Amino acid sequence: MAIATINPATGETLKTFEPHSAAQIEEILARADAANALMRATTFAQRSAWMHAAADLMDAELDRVAGLASTEMGKTIGTAKYEVTKSANGMRHYADHAEEYLADETPVEASTVGASAARVVFQPIGTILAVMPWNYPFWQVIRFAAPALMAGNTGLLKHASSVPQTALYLGELFERAGFPAGAFQTLLVEGAAASKLIDDRRIKGVTLTGSVGAGSAVAEAAGRNVKKSVLELGGTDVFVVMPSADVAKSAEFGANSRTQNSGQSCICAKRFYVHEDVYDEWFAAFLAKMEATTGGDPFDPATGFGPMATEQVRAEAHELVEDAKAKGVTVHTGGELPSGPGWFYPSTVFTDVTPEMRIYREECFGPVACVYRVSSVEEAIERSNDSDFGLAASVWTTDPAELARLQEGLEFGAVFANGNTASFFGLPFGGVKDSGYGRELGRFGIREFVNTKTVWEA
Ligand code: NAP
Repeated sequence: MAIATINPATGETLKTFEPHSAAQIEEILARADAANALMRATTFAQRSAWMHAAADLMDAELDRVAGLASTEMGKTIGTAKYEVTKSANGMRHYADHAEEYLADETPVEASTVGASAARVVFQPIGTILAVMPWNYPFWQVIRFAAPALMAGNTGLLKHASSVPQTALYLGELFERAGFPAGAFQTLLVEGAAASKLIDDRRIKGVTLTGSVGAGSAVAEAAGRNVKKSVLELGGTDVFVVMPSADVAKSAEFGANSRTQNSGQSCICAKRFYVHEDVYDEWFAAFLAKMEATTGGDPFDPATGFGPMATEQVRAEAHELVEDAKAKGVTVHTGGELPSGPGWFYPSTVFTDVTPEMRIYREECFGPVACVYRVSSVEEAIERSNDSDFGLAASVWTTDPAELARLQEGLEFGAVFANGNTASFFGLPFGGVKDSGYGRELGRFGIREFVNTKTVWEA
C-alpha cells in the first residue's frame, strides 16, 4: 500500500511520501539503539516529567492534531478530539502510575527459598517495534508508547500507510517533550517490510494491532527470532440482550457501538443476540436508531459518522455484504454502495444471517449489524462463543445469576455489563483465540515488554 494521505471524504490524494530508504532505516535503528543507554540511565521522575510535557503538547495542539485524524482516516472531528484528549490523559496515567506498576515485588518469604533476600525487579528490554492501524491513529499508538517509554524502553512506530502525517507527528512528539533523541521514532515503511525489521538484532520485541494476517506475519518473524510479541487483532464482538435489560437504552447503545468510527472499531458490537421475549421491541428501537445514524462530512459537527478510512476497507466490507445478499440475508436498511465521491457506507442491518454467509464468521469492519434471536442465556453464550475471535462482549441484563453465568461462560478478553465495550487506562485490554494474545494497558500492559528479573541473595 502506498504511503499517502488520501482524504476519505473525497478520495483526493493530498500528499504522498517516499518510504524510508535502507540507509534511513539503518540510521533510525542506530539512533534507537543508542537511546537505550540514555533511557536506562533516567529515573521514573524524569521520564514522568517528559511524559507530562508530551501530554501537554498534545492538548495544546488539539485542534490541529484532531484535524489530522479526520483528514487522514475520516473520523468525525468530535471523536478525533475525544481520542486526542484520551491519548494525552493516557500518557498522564502512565506518567503517574508506571513506578507503582513496576515496583519490586517479593512473592515469597526469602527464607522459604534459602535466601537472605529474594525479590522480583522489572527492567527495560530495549527497542520495541510497534506496528499500528489507522482506526484510532493516536490512541492505539499512545497506549503502546506511554507504557513502553515509562518502563525505560525505546519505541519504533511503523504506522498504517494511510496515516503518514499522524505517524510523523507522533514520531517527533516525545523528543519535542524532552525525551532523549531516538527514544521514539517513526519509520515510514510499507506493511510487508515491517516483518523484516524484526530480524534486526537491535529490535527486542514487537507489538501489532491489526488484522489476523498481519499479526501472524509479525508473530512468525518474532517466533523465528525468539522475540516477545503482543498481538491485538480483530473481533466479531457480541452484544447480548436478555429480557431483564433496559430495552430502549440497550438498543441505543447497540446502534452507537456498531456505528462508532464508521463501524471500524475492533471492540464494537458486530453480532447481536437478543432474547425472544424482548426481540420485537428491541429490534424496532435498534433499527430506528441505526437508520437515524448517517454518514457525512467528518468536519460537520452534526455528522453521525464519517466515511470509511480507505477505499480498500470499504470494498472488503461491501464484499461481505454482497456475499450475504446473494445467499438470502434479509436487509432491513443499507447494504448498497453509495454513488458519489469518498468512501461512505450506510448503516446496515441484517437478519436471517446463516452459517454459509461469510459475514457469519468473518469480521466486517464497517457499520453492518447482524441480529439474531435467541431463546436462553445458554444459547446466547454458545452462539457467542461459536467464533474464531474473542475480544470483547457487551451483555445487557439485570439478573445477577444470569450476569454471573455470562461473565463466566463467554470466551472473550472482556465482558462489559449494561454498557458498551471500551478501553480504560488501568484495565487490561486484549483478546483470546484469533483476537490475539498479550495485554495492553494497566499493570498487565506495561509488564509485557520488561525483563521480569529474579534477584536472589544467599
Ligand atoms: P492491517 O492491514 O493488518 O494493518 C495494520 C498494520 O499492520 C498496518 O500498519 C499495516 O501496514 C501493517 N501490516 C500489514 N501487513 C503486514 C505484514 N505482512 N507484516 C507487518 N505489518 C503489516 O489492519 P487494518 O485492516 O488496517 O486494520 C483493521 C484490523 O485491525 C481489524 O481486523 C481490526 O479488528 C484490527 N484492530 C484490532 C484492535 C485491537 O486492539 N485488538 C484495534 C484496532 C484494530 P500498511 O498500512 O502499510 O499495510
